[in-house]
Amino acid sequence: MDNRQTAPDEILNRHGIRPTSVRILIYKTMNRFHDTFSMADLEEVLDSVDKSTLFRTLALFAEHHLVHLLEDGSGSTKYCICRNDHICGIEELHCHFYCEACHKTFCLDHTHIPAVRYPAGFEVRQIDYLLKGLCASCRAKRHE
Ligand SMILES: [Zn+2]
Ligand SMILES: [Zn+2]
Ligand SMILES: [Zn+2]
Repeated sequence: MDNRQTAPDEILNRHGIRPTSVRILIYKTMNRFHDTFSMADLEEVLDSVDKSTLFRTLALFAEHHLVHLLEDGSGSTKYCICRNDHICGIEELHCHFYCEACHKTFCLDHTHIPAVRYPAGFEVRQIDYLLKGLCASCRAKRHE
């Protein structure tokens, strides 16, 4: 299901998050990023929100599966909005692509991570499936 057309307060409610005005503001700001973003990216556009509120809100969003977390090797945690209204199964998670030239991390929304086997009794909490290389525009620039 695609959440893009649904009102932010309803989306927060669906995820079990009480929609306060600051949370709605942060959610709306996250929606302006088409791909992944870091806390620093949010800070840059949300100068009215203090850092600790932002940090706590992101942790809350992650806990309620409103955002996916990923580590792309850049040293800062990246986030992307979950477009499902339930906790994604492994088969619903998508891959990411890190561009080594522009350092952007793209969501490959339609590329699901391959089936991964892991031992019985283990519980997976996060999977970082990352492709690295050059994005289309950086690649085009190199071949000019
Ligand atoms: Zn999800
Ligand atoms: Zn690039
Ligand atoms: Zn993503």
